[in-house]
Order: sequence, then C-alpha cells, then structure tokens
Amino acid sequence: MRVYNFSAGPAVLPEEVLKEAAEEMLDYNGTGMSVMEMSHRSKAFEEIINTAEQDLRDLMNIPDNYKVLFLQGGASQQFAAVPMNLMKNKKAAYIVTGQWAKKAYQEAQNYGEAVAVASSADKTFSYIPDCSDLDIPEDADYVYICENNTIYGTKFKELPNTKGKTLVADVSSCFLSEPVDVTKYGVIYGGVQKNIGPAGVVIVIIREDLITEDTLPGTPTMLKYKIHADNKSLYNTPPAYGIYICGKVFKWIKKMGGLEAMKAHNEKKAKILYDYLDQSKLFKGTVEAKDRSLMNVPFITGNDELDAKFVKEAKAAGFENLKGHRSVGGMRASIYNAMPIEGVEKLVEFMKKFEEENA
Ligand SMILES: *Cc1c(COP(=O)(O)O)cnc(C)c1O
Repeated sequence: MRVYNFSAGPAVLPEEVLKEAAEEMLDYNGTGMSVMEMSHRSKAFEEIINTAEQDLRDLMNIPDNYKVLFLQGGASQQFAAVPMNLMKNKKAAYIVTGQWAKKAYQEAQNYGEAVAVASSADKTFSYIPDCSDLDIPEDADYVYICENNTIYGTKFKELPNTKGKTLVADVSSCFLSEPVDVTKYGVIYGGVQKNIGPAGVVIVIIREDLITEDTLPGTPTMLKYKIHADNKSLYNTPPAYGIYICGKVFKWIKKMGGLEAMKAHNEKKAKILYDYLDQSKLFKGTVEAKDRSLMNVPFITGNDELDAKFVKEAKAAGFENLKGHRSVGGMRASIYNAMPIEGVEKLVEFMKKFEEENA
C-alpha cells in the first residue's frame, strides 16, 4: 500500500509515472534494455532528452534565447556555479529569506563580494521582506533569490525590483507549480527532487547572453554553463535515468492541463490546509499569511511533546514525513504537484481528530 508522503524532498511523484517506468524497466520502447542501461549517445536516449527539453519549453513557455541544461550536483552546486559564471564584476546582491538562500549567499562569498540587500532572519524567516526598492549596488552582476523557501514555507508572490540587474532564482521547491514569466529571469534553476523527478538532476534555464567563456579563473570545466550549453547537456554522461523520469513528469503535467491547471490544483490543496490551520485552536501556521507557500506548509502546536506525538500518530495512520526540518522542529507538510487532493483532505481530517483528542 502507498502512503501519503509529505516529504520535502525527495518527494512524492505521480503514481502514473512510476507505473509507466515500471512497465518500461526491462525493455524501453522495443530497445530490449532499460533506460538505465543505454548509451547516452544512443538514438533512443537522444529522443528522450530532446523530448523532455521540448516539453519543458512548452510548459514554461521558454523563449528561444534561453538554454535548458540538465546537470548534476544538485541545487547546492549551483550556489558556486552561479557566481563562477556570472560574477564579472565580482559583486552580487543576495536576498536572504531562508537557509537555502543563506547557503547560496555564503558560498558566493568565496568568489566575490556577496551583499545581503535584504533579509528576514530577524523573524526566523517567517516572511518575505519588501523588495520593491532595495539598495542594489550599481555594479552588481545579478540579484539572487530563493523563490520558495522549502524549510520555512514562504514564497515570493512578487519578484524583487532588481533595478535592471539580472535576476537569478533557485526554484527547487516551486518548479512547475504555477506559470512563470521566464523573461523576467536571467537564470532559473532547481534540483528536481522536490517537484519534478528523482534526485540527481538539476535543471538550469539560462538566457544565452549570460553564457560566456569569461568565467572566474579556476572554474572547473564541469561548472561552466558554456560547456554544457555547447554540448546540449551531453558533455559527459548526464543523469540519464533521472532525465527520463523528469520527461515523464512533464508529459503528466501537460496532460493535467499545464501550469495554469497545476496552480489551480495547488491553490485548492493549500487552501484546505491553511483554512483549517487558521481556525484550529491547537495547530497554527508559522509564516505570515501573505507570504505563504503553496508547496511547503510548516505548522506547530507550540508544545514539542505534542508535536512529536502528532508526528508519530500521523505516521502510524499512513501520513509520512510530517516532521519539520531538523533546524526548526514542529511539522511541515510538503504538498507538491503530485500530492493528490485526497491526501490533504485526509490529513486535515486526521488533524481534526487529533485536535479533539488532545484539546
Ligand atoms: C532542497 C533544496 C536545495 C538543495 O538541493 P540539493 O539538490 O540537495 O543540493 C536548494 N535549494 C532549495 C530551495 C531546496 O529546496
């Protein structure tokens, strides 16, 4: 029996996709082998990666002057790759709204001057600061955000005013959760293990003029966007099986109606949980309502023992991975694209029952 998996990542994938992959495990499309076993230079794989890229382009309406790269190293590797490729003036502005943004900010300091132009650390990252008129250095190469804060459960509802600078966004935990205007960004990247596919793939969508030979001295070949762009993500062996699963998820999202439909589906799910939290006397959400994420919903009872009891009883009832991030405690329900609405409805039923029993 499958459980309702509220993990922040690696996370739930569409059941349909997993079944299809299982059917194709031993013999992919008449090749007589698994995708795991085939050459990344084969016709069959070429078609897999090209189709995946085209479907992603269709879903996100990615303009032709952007490249799509399927890389490895996780989102964390991009914390270094971004400054190594983009810091021409050795200066960049970072908006620090959570742990992932902070890690990126700290990593960038190895390569140049990373300036924290805004932060919500003063209230344990429970809100998104006003970014309409920030003091962005004249010579900053880019402005960096983590668009959805996986750990704290906040999301930028409006992009910062970058004052004309290139916007770089880590979208790991909100990738394909709603429509985006790609033209507002220079770089959009994310690890796929939150909302798209298996761990091991990171997708980088980058405007062509930002891809240059002119990287910081010592930049490893494998971290150069130009190398991967020139080789269509096949400079070396790519995470082939992961890309294949991502491709299936893209098809699944297309079938579901694309990103507009995903947004409606995600809003509906999140509303069920937030509405309950707003009227509960036991549980409460931990972030400012206006900045709430549709993907990651942290909540607490205010009593550590009761939190632990809830997590334990929820697990026994088939609701997995509700424990909050180890750095913040409490609970967190991650309700990515593939979480069915029944999963959230049943979780809320269970929370109501727990509230009654523990009033
Ligand atoms: C999970 C996560 C990361 C780290 O991803 P890795 O692939 O483990 O490096 C970075 N940023 C965000 C927003 C995340 O949710």
